[in-house]
Amino acid sequence: MSGKRDIYLVIGGSGFLGRHVVEALLARGDSVSVFDIVQRHHDVPFYSGDISEEEQVSDALRKSGATCIIHTASPLHGLDDPALYWKVNVDGTQAVINAAVANGVPKLVYTSSAGVVFDGSDLIDVDERIPGPEKAMDPYNESKAKAEEIVLAANGKGGLYTVALRPAGIFGPGDRQMIAGLFQVWQRGQSHIQLGDNTNLFDWTYVGNCAYAHLLAADRLIPTSEKDALRVKDELDIALPP
Ligand code: NAD
Repeated sequence: MSGKRDIYLVIGGSGFLGRHVVEALLARGDSVSVFDIVQRHHDVPFYSGDISEEEQVSDALRKSGATCIIHTASPLHGLDDPALYWKVNVDGTQAVINAAVANGVPKLVYTSSAGVVFDGSDLIDVDERIPGPEKAMDPYNESKAKAEEIVLAANGKGGLYTVALRPAGIFGPGDRQMIAGLFQVWQRGQSHIQLGDNTNLFDWTYVGNCAYAHLLAADRLIPTSEKDALRVKDELDIALPP
């Protein structure tokens, strides 16, 4: 970690998770701006734009002076629009990478999804080493997997360092999907249906913890010295490449 503090641009910062990332950054005194297609809050500088328009991302990077991008943007899961998922998640994420390199931004944290390794069968005690399925569950997860792949492939190239996180279900204040989905199940009278024998498990993460994980990932993305790298290794118990 360098002594100099990063300046953050949260892409998708008007969304559920993105907003919590913004609040976590503000709470520790960091400088943060938001890039999104909609504006829902007015307490930080806001750049209106679509990530699939590289010049709009570049413009926001130049104006905000960002040194770290936290990219949480995506269309919601469950839409019947494969082309939109590809345009935003794959082409848009590529545009974010291009804009970051073009503007000398050294850090990119990407919000992927646990769904990129889910094929419908049980996944018990797995970690990030598990390979993705041959066929994605749906177009959303296919696009998230491809986006994650290009984010990780961009690591260390053109002065950009990248990391991707894979949250499973996220819950907490500001959620527009999970509770709404459960409510619709009740409204449709579907609550008498049970899948399995009532022992199915699913991972959920509180949104504040998920946001905090993004900050930690950003903080540790570029170890600046061997000593620093060893400390990170000790703390996180991760294997560093030789
Ligand atoms: P959200 O819909 O609340 O937030 C996403 C934000 O991205 C929105 O503000 C939206 O306006 C913005 N956005 C969409 N398209 C854009 C575009 N073309 N350009 C710029 N901004 C755009 O969703 P969320 O639940 O906060 O999810 C955040 C991230 O976490 C997503 O990448 C999602 O795939 C991932 N994720 C979410 C969950 C979950 O349970 N919510 C689980 C796993 C992964």
